[in-house]
Amino acid sequence: MNYKIAQRAASLTPSITLAIDSKAKQMKAEGIDVVGFGVGEPDFDTPQHIKDAAIKALNDGFTKYTPASGIPELRQAVADKFKRENGLNYKPSQIIISCGGKHSCYNIMIALCQAGDEVIIPAPYWLSYPEMVKLAEATPVILQTSDKTEFKVSPEQLRNAITPRTRLFVLNSPSNPTGSVYTREEIKALGDICVEKGVLIMSDEIYEHLLYDGATHTSVASFSQAHYDHTIVVHGFAKAWSMTGWRLGFLAAPEPIAKAIDAIQSHSTSNPTSFAQKGGVAALTGPQDHLKVWLAEFAKRRAYAHAKLTSIPNISCVNSKGAFYLFPNISRTGLKSMDFCAKLLEQEKVAAVPGIAFGADDYIRISYATSMENLQKGCERIDKFVRSLAKS
Ligand SMILES: *Cc1c(COP(=O)(O)O)cnc(C)c1O
Repeated sequence: MNYKIAQRAASLTPSITLAIDSKAKQMKAEGIDVVGFGVGEPDFDTPQHIKDAAIKALNDGFTKYTPASGIPELRQAVADKFKRENGLNYKPSQIIISCGGKHSCYNIMIALCQAGDEVIIPAPYWLSYPEMVKLAEATPVILQTSDKTEFKVSPEQLRNAITPRTRLFVLNSPSNPTGSVYTREEIKALGDICVEKGVLIMSDEIYEHLLYDGATHTSVASFSQAHYDHTIVVHGFAKAWSMTGWRLGFLAAPEPIAKAIDAIQSHSTSNPTSFAQKGGVAALTGPQDHLKVWLAEFAKRRAYAHAKLTSIPNISCVNSKGAFYLFPNISRTGLKSMDFCAKLLEQEKVAAVPGIAFGADDYIRISYATSMENLQKGCERIDKFVRSLAKS
């Protein structure tokens, strides 16, 4: 049989990380002591009061369809969050609850982009952005950055990349995979250009709460009415509440965009899981004490991993200011990222993600969302591995 796969699916790049991940899992199954630095999710459990809310919802029979864009209670709680934490005024009708922040991003691309449109994405990027743009039949335009600028695009770079076809600029601060965080001034400068040029901004702020060393977060939507009118904010429960498996995220958009996304969602997924939404309400309205504890732990691990990695010859690493990733430069080892990660896994049983997956072949991504013990073991092994390269 010749199963003719549609062009939009056939042209997707399969996840490079999957190859490494499945190899690591297979090695683990064989009883090999593999250290995993691959996962992009917190290693902490979802706070109990959030689980309790979902369990109660199930026991109360809250198991039926809800409005496609989410229960009013959760849309209100999200609107309240934006008001309280970001100074942004959204009506509940401008909030769409989706099956994860990833689903929110996808809905935005499908609602706003079509063939002939260009979407500007700074690299290193979250690997799903360009593939989503392609699914919308638009063209990703990648802006390269490096550790020399802490992986940030300059206003000039953005300005030069904008054409009459540019529809959307993707901003992700704090960033996955680099952990870099734009300052308030830098965000404003990028936002100003988008406003001037009439380019919309998809601002993925899912790591908003995971910041270190006094770094702060500013939503690009918050600078003026014009910035607000040009921005769709993406957020979700996966990272700051450790709810990756719940599949629950949200966005806030100007009314006409929210309306379009509501229609798309009503014909694709319908509502996100009913009882998960009750968990979402508890996450936003309940105590946030867990976050301080997690951040203190992440900060400790980050300090250790950064010090250790920068002590390794031929490795350099700018320190991250957010999220839970480090993005060390491996170019001086003479290996490209796929080769580096494959050999690292083979020889020292450490699974890291090759930077090429994020459009940056001189780097690898280390997630420190793992125990200190694992982190120490893994970093020692990377040290040994890189020193062995230098000798050979
Ligand atoms: C984790 C993540 C998301 C959203 O993940 P979901 O599990 O779909 O909520 C969105 N953007 C970035 C950059 C992420 O790392």
